[in-house]
Amino acid sequence: MKAAPFHYARAASLHAALDALAAGPEALVISGGQSLAPLLNLRMTLCDTIVDIGGLIELQACWQTDHVTLIGAGVTHAMIEDGLTPDPAHGMLRRAAGKIAYRAVRCQGTIGGSLAMADPAADWPCILLALGATAILRSALGDRRVALDDLLVGVYETSLRPGEIIQALEIPNLPPQARAASAKISRKTGAFANSIVAVVLNGESSRAVLGAAGPRATILPHVSAALASGSPLDQMTGLVTRDVADILPEPDSYLQSLHETNVRRALLEVLAP
Ligand SMILES: Cc1cc2nc3c(=O)[nH]c(=O)nc-3n(C[C@H](O)[C@H](O)[C@H](O)COP(=O)(O)OP(=O)(O)OC[C@H]3O[C@@H](n4cnc5c(N)ncnc54)[C@H](O)[C@@H]3O)c2cc1C
Repeated sequence: MKAAPFHYARAASLHAALDALAAGPEALVISGGQSLAPLLNLRMTLCDTIVDIGGLIELQACWQTDHVTLIGAGVTHAMIEDGLTPDPAHGMLRRAAGKIAYRAVRCQGTIGGSLAMADPAADWPCILLALGATAILRSALGDRRVALDDLLVGVYETSLRPGEIIQALEIPNLPPQARAASAKISRKTGAFANSIVAVVLNGESSRAVLGAAGPRATILPHVSAALASGSPLDQMTGLVTRDVADILPEPDSYLQSLHETNVRRALLEVLAP
């Protein structure tokens, strides 16, 4: 199928993109186009105007302070995989980027597009939620900062308002003693996850997050609390079972076992001596 007709506007700046979005309620931005282009072609998404923000320098800016790292929403997965951006998580971003899809997709798809898409099985929502990231949003009406836990709402659903663009992700820098790991199970290389887990071991900020199990990436509350209190892995088995069961929409012994195994893999990595 081919997309329904739409107007195409290539934005020369972030400001111009925000103005173009504000001009029409049926306008959408396109970044890497890896999800939006197929949705348009299948006519599952319809819009009057496409505002192309791909390659905007303002959306590719990255910098690091003593406490946080900012990664522009227009940074591609390949840029992160290639180490062209700072990594506040001891290499976890770089390792995770290399497991997204395959190289051709990674060269186009962006971290901001992935979050805005909010696919329940996508890698970045899970990884960035575990790291306690905040999305920096811009619109013609003003700017706001939204914690990832509040940005992710449900299946392909975020709390982005009409006219808003994700400009960057702000990620707290992990201290040297902190540990971070992710684990992904896919049917084949390059496919979306059947289970994706990210675990950060960092004192009271410790978090374990599971994706591809429910409508959005979700913090495992009991496992996260156990990590924060320094519990050893052998005392977490029941907590993993309970947290996974609470996320699955209905009891399913295969999926329960798949996700539990994946959570344990990531826990093993961060808790290894
Ligand atoms: C074959 C294939 C395999 C894939 N496998 C994986 C995988 O294993 N793991 C994974 O995580 N992903 C996977 N993806 C998704 C891919 O990695 C992209 O991240 C994803 O398609 C969205 O990024 P994009 O830049 O292409 O966004 P686009 O397709 O351009 O846009 C997607 C949506 O986000 C909106 N949007 C884009 N940028 C912004 C912004 N800055 N602010 C606000 N809204 C914005 C658009 O309006 C649109 O609604 C796969 C894709 C393909 C085609």
